[in-house]
Amino acid sequence: WVKADGKVRWLVFDPARNAREVSRYRLSADMPGALDRGEFILVYQPLVNLDTGLLEGLEALVRWRHPGRGLLSPDEFIGLAEDTSLIVPLGIHLLEQACRQAVRWQQLTKDPPYVSVNLSVRQLRSPALVADVAAVLDRTGLAPEQLQLEITESAIIDPDDDTNLIATLQTLADLGIRITIDDFGTGYSNLAYLPTLPVHGLKLDRTLLLGPDRWKVPEPVADSFLANLVSLGHSLGLNVTAEGVETAEHVRRLRVAGADTGQGWYFGRPEYAEQFADRLPGPWT
Ligand code: C2E
Ligand code: MG
Ligand code: MG
Ligand code: MG
Repeated sequence: WVKADGKVRWLVFDPARNAREVSRYRLSADMPGALDRGEFILVYQPLVNLDTGLLEGLEALVRWRHPGRGLLSPDEFIGLAEDTSLIVPLGIHLLEQACRQAVRWQQLTKDPPYVSVNLSVRQLRSPALVADVAAVLDRTGLAPEQLQLEITESAIIDPDDDTNLIATLQTLADLGIRITIDDFGTGYSNLAYLPTLPVHGLKLDRTLLLGPDRWKVPEPVADSFLANLVSLGHSLGLNVTAEGVETAEHVRRLRVAGADTGQGWYFGRPEYAEQFADRLPGPWT
């Protein structure tokens, strides 16, 4: 086409890009019906106490059992759900599923795991969030102390408006819910905010575990870096969880660093809720 400056530009048709757009469009069109049909399900991944080797929590991770495309992972549809606001009803639906499941686990062991549910920015900004969460706890009968909410640091710390969200978190924390910062160390991270946040824990992003091989630094440097990250959390009285624990070596390094909780393929992949029924509370090592 001809631009205002008179030069001719070519708009290249990119079939791959077009197919992606169409596919995204179809997925987002499928979504509201999928929610009604119960196609969004949860799998759970162990959060293991690094001192005792026992299960302390289970993180709920969403999957979409799509009739035509198989099992879809959240990276393929959570962004779309956020763009269309469906994340708000979807998020509450998932929260309720997770809380019901946690109540079932409570009936199986005297040391029941807490359930940890991811919240996206859009949900955190929804004015109804606190009331919705309180209503779910009420309907399911789950004690607030048995619920953890995971929120990424970039969701909380928005330079344009943070006071509202911190107040929202404070209200949730006052109810007794554990709040943890997910993927800590990757987002837009203004450390000066950290002491002011009403949170219970930090989840170190798995890239922070990659260590000496990845960073090309001597092992003692990588180990000391990790230990200091853990101390950063502990200095604020926070529980420190490491995600992406894939090997016994990771576990060893985390124990030396003093981390509290581990999560990753070494301890177990995400699985259907029933898979945990006869294995509570562990050991998981
Ligand atoms: P996340 O909350 O940081 O979850 C951890 C992700 O790492 C999960 O991917 C998990 O399967 C994967 N993972 C666990 N252990 C290991 C490991 O040892 N190595 C490696 N390489 N990966 C591991 P998943 O289930 O695909 O979830 C991706 C992201 O989608 C989550 O990251 C979370 O941000 C988001 N998400 C998942 N479920 C929900 C949900 O119900 N609501 C919202 N809003 N977001 C969700
Ligand atoms: Mg998470
Ligand atoms: Mg995470
Ligand atoms: Mg992550």
